[in-house]
Amino acid sequence: MKGQTYLKNVVTLELNADKCNGCGMCAIVCPHNVFEIKNRKAKIIDKDACMECGACEMNCDQKAVTVRSGVGCAAGIMIGALGGTGPCCGPNTEDTKAKSCCEKSKNKCC
Ligand code: SF4
Ligand code: SF4
Repeated sequence: MKGQTYLKNVVTLELNADKCNGCGMCAIVCPHNVFEIKNRKAKIIDKDACMECGACEMNCDQKAVTVRSGVGCAAGIMIGALGGTGPCCGPNTEDTKAKSCCEKSKNKCC
């Protein structure tokens, strides 16, 4: 998938290029083409397209990628769809993972 972005500059994805061995797994598993491999190193080319699914971190043997999966706008969209409330990251709920997105971005959706 390409082209979908969420809020800008709120994604928790981080890449430590020093640990990367260029295996390419992150680029293979990422559904939003966030990574490219150049000169045997991963590079983040579209950070705002990351939906924080966690697949890259789970598949990186070198622990070069970190991301807080289950938070952020993608999670808010899923929470809203499942609860029938529309997109909402749930600052008024007891879900502390969901709260962190709003606290970080200062966006109050509900
Ligand atoms: S999966 Fe990890 S080690 Fe492999 S290319 Fe991506 S960041 Fe580098
Ligand atoms: S968390 Fe998911 S969408 Fe984001 S970079 Fe990793 S694999 Fe791609």
